[in-house]
Amino acid sequence: MTGNFTGSFTQQEPIPEAGIEAALNVLRHGRLHRYNTAPGEIAETALLEEEFARFTGAKYCLAVASGGYALGAALRAIGIGPGDHVLTNAFTLAPVPGAIAALGASPVFVETTEDLTIDMADLQAKLAGARALLLSHMRGHICDMDRLMAICDAAGVPVIEDCAHTMGAAWRGTPSGRHGIAGCYSTQTYKHMNSGEGGLIVSDDPDLMARAVILSGSYMLYGRHRAAPPAEAFDRVRLVTPNVSGRMDNLRAAILRPQLADLAAQCARWNALYATMEAALTGTDGLRLIPRPAEESHVASSFQFLLPGWPPQRVQTFLARAAQRGVELKWFGHPEPTGFTSRHDSWRYAGAQHLPQTDRILAGLIDMRLPLTFTPADVQLIAAIIREELAATAAGANGPHETALAAD
Ligand SMILES: *Cc1c(COP(=O)(O)O)cnc(C)c1O
Repeated sequence: MTGNFTGSFTQQEPIPEAGIEAALNVLRHGRLHRYNTAPGEIAETALLEEEFARFTGAKYCLAVASGGYALGAALRAIGIGPGDHVLTNAFTLAPVPGAIAALGASPVFVETTEDLTIDMADLQAKLAGARALLLSHMRGHICDMDRLMAICDAAGVPVIEDCAHTMGAAWRGTPSGRHGIAGCYSTQTYKHMNSGEGGLIVSDDPDLMARAVILSGSYMLYGRHRAAPPAEAFDRVRLVTPNVSGRMDNLRAAILRPQLADLAAQCARWNALYATMEAALTGTDGLRLIPRPAEESHVASSFQFLLPGWPPQRVQTFLARAAQRGVELKWFGHPEPTGFTSRHDSWRYAGAQHLPQTDRILAGLIDMRLPLTFTPADVQLIAAIIREELAATAAGANGPHETALAAD
């Protein structure tokens, strides 16, 4: 048996020194609010937007207070409101249906495939009557975007992409977030850039972006943005769009700009850890790895695998055994929401929805983060522990250990 793992699955790297210096500079001059600029000064937030627009190839970009806020603002900017039905993935994180519900709209969940992406047949079946699709690239798995856009375009249903886990990723060379009418990103600590909290919206649509800028709380200072549409776009919306305050500030933008400059290199490091884990788990009995399509350029900051057909008790035995050895795995099949992990059936405000395929897949879905504080040797050790504890759990299946745990 190999040793135990003693690292932390939630420890990110420090903010790069250039970010710390830029943050100190903002703190020293005190102009944290994005519209508080000295004569001739360009706010850090405006510069971040300009740089992120360039990074994604989008015409426009807006920085906001969180990823969830970005989703809500993008939905509202395309006119989603009370009573509207908005399709979204049944397998996603709570702020996604939350952003829909916050507008008084109803989330309608679409089934999940074994590859952890949206089920196209179920999507097709649910398109009628839907006002939009909020497509979540959950855990960084990108569906066939060519097919998805063809289906949604044919039905006239706009697509907003939730790219919380795909910042830096692409489908057939087009950046994630650039297929639909808008792409939304998070810069919360567990995502690909870390400002504690924060979000970004990109789009080529001037009306959408003008509305989003006003929604975010620009007052009549939108002229200070550098990645916003021209004044005419604002003339159409500025007096009919409410201020739903949710701006980003210069401190966060200052922390993010050096991280954006490093993002491609960081993505390559995540993918190297992922490839190590994938190779180390290949061929493990009872475990199904998630295939990655050739068209997908992923940024794999987390790792998923399936234990198909495992009864809940046996999964719990495995999780407990792995945890004893320092490997904290998340399980989307847990009947109760725990930590960050919840499921469509715990979002009761959305009403009960019948999603048997998603339920079956999530029952065996195991997830772990791969923070950049891990070394390849850490990943090898974690994989070895997973293999050993899976084998030990399978060997004891229906034996005394599983029965004892079940009796707890
Ligand atoms: C984190 C996350 C969000 C929301 O981001 P916040 O910045 O935390 O509001 C949205 N979607 C997914 C899939 C996420 O993981």
